[in-house]
Amino acid sequence: MGSLGERKRIQLPHVVVFPCPGQGHMNPLMEFAKRRAYRNLHVTFIATERVRERMIQAQEGAAIHVTSALQNIRIETISDGLSPDCEETNDVDMRMDLMKKVGGLTFQRVIERLNSQGHTNKVSCIVYDSLLNWVPHIANKFNITSAFFWTQSCAVYAIYYHFYTGMVKAKDETENVRDVIEIPGLPQLCQSDTPSFLQSSNPCESLLRLVMDQFSTIFQATWILGNSFNELEMTEIQSINSLIPIVTVGPLVPSAFLDGNNPQDQDVGIHLWKTENCIDWLNTKEASTVAYVSFGSVAVLSKEQIIEIALGLKASRYSFLWVIRPDQNKEGKNNVHDFLNGFLEDTIDQGLVVSWCSQAAVLNHPSVGMFVTHCGWNSTLESLSSGLPVVTISQWSDQTTNSKYIEEVWKTGIRLNKTAYGLVGKDEIEKSVKTVMESEDGVELRKNALKWKTLAKEAMMKGGSSDKNIEWFIREVIGRTAAA
Ligand code: UDP
Repeated sequence: MGSLGERKRIQLPHVVVFPCPGQGHMNPLMEFAKRRAYRNLHVTFIATERVRERMIQAQEGAAIHVTSALQNIRIETISDGLSPDCEETNDVDMRMDLMKKVGGLTFQRVIERLNSQGHTNKVSCIVYDSLLNWVPHIANKFNITSAFFWTQSCAVYAIYYHFYTGMVKAKDETENVRDVIEIPGLPQLCQSDTPSFLQSSNPCESLLRLVMDQFSTIFQATWILGNSFNELEMTEIQSINSLIPIVTVGPLVPSAFLDGNNPQDQDVGIHLWKTENCIDWLNTKEASTVAYVSFGSVAVLSKEQIIEIALGLKASRYSFLWVIRPDQNKEGKNNVHDFLNGFLEDTIDQGLVVSWCSQAAVLNHPSVGMFVTHCGWNSTLESLSSGLPVVTISQWSDQTTNSKYIEEVWKTGIRLNKTAYGLVGKDEIEKSVKTVMESEDGVELRKNALKWKTLAKEAMMKGGSSDKNIEWFIREVIGRTAAA
């Protein structure tokens, strides 16, 4: 039998990482999980049964890949209260309610089971997606620590917190909508620069409630972590830290493409759509000549908008790689290819359209010269980390704020706004792609993007700001586990 000291030493913390079941939420939390598993901690990643089912389908039944690609991370499933084969629903209230009731119950059972198994250490910490604001309550029940994980920018964190507390209001004393929003540490924002849920045109009351509710239990969490880095959002972080401190641990993108600490980490390893190989096609293109186009995992576009993008890309004459998810079109599933048929034939030598790809690998391919993006936070960080200039066509949520930062603060891209018809037109798309690819302004944007790439890399490399924060967090968890 080992001495007490030895026994204490082998009691490495067991961290459970619990994202919301969406691609944009699972990706940063999985990359965070990998960085902890890489440092030899026990890590369990929670997925819903429906997510696991989709991951397996996306890999055509090869369930083994789900785990082997993720090295030593254990995946446990919980129920989200919906049957695995039921249709996706847009009823946010119902989904979040089921997630809390059924998900919460099945999650507790997972922790009990993990705690009763001899071959893993007991769970000592839950890193949870900030949208799952009921998790600290469960952590308290098990007498373990929890970390609130913010998946958006620190600027957006500061904006929402100021609105949540009433320190900033959308309307003035005479009930007129404020055109200008002032938040310490942030540039002046027009209403249209704030996240769409805060704008007077917001049609999604339940989503506004959901984002605000994240803060309702935040003080029950032991730590607050965010997917950003100090150098990127220095004034925002400094300013919000005097109110509600956040520790930045990003950018969380596959290590091989950034810090290189884990060369095997070349893909997040969890995809909800079948990943198509575009690398062979990219290999046939010259350096920095391809525009990569993607609107992430949630946005749906109208047929008219998709056609404007198609015509703009074609007219630019640049090669393009365009991700159009099967569920990307508002008017109905699977009919995108019907109305794009002629376009696809006409551009067969110019472009490639795929349903999904390994975005990190694509962005880091030498042939890719720019990114046309909806500006989801992960895509934004991935563009900065790969040193690529961008054209932004934001849709909703925090994308509006990220676009503003891209154009005016980090100066790595051009922001395209919708016209009165609610569309970004083909001419603007053509013009902006050309500007980025061939003008003096484009050279400047690329120079700035490369500067951010260097800073992002430094933040995640040994001794960098985010690396130090990750090390600090691990020490904190180890310290609390040993003291428990
Ligand atoms: N992504 C991918 N392949 C694709 C499109 C997107 O791997 O074909 C990944 C992308 O790298 C990012 C995530 O999906 O990590 C999307 O998150 P983001 O925050 O950019 O947007 P959201 O999907 O949440 O709107």
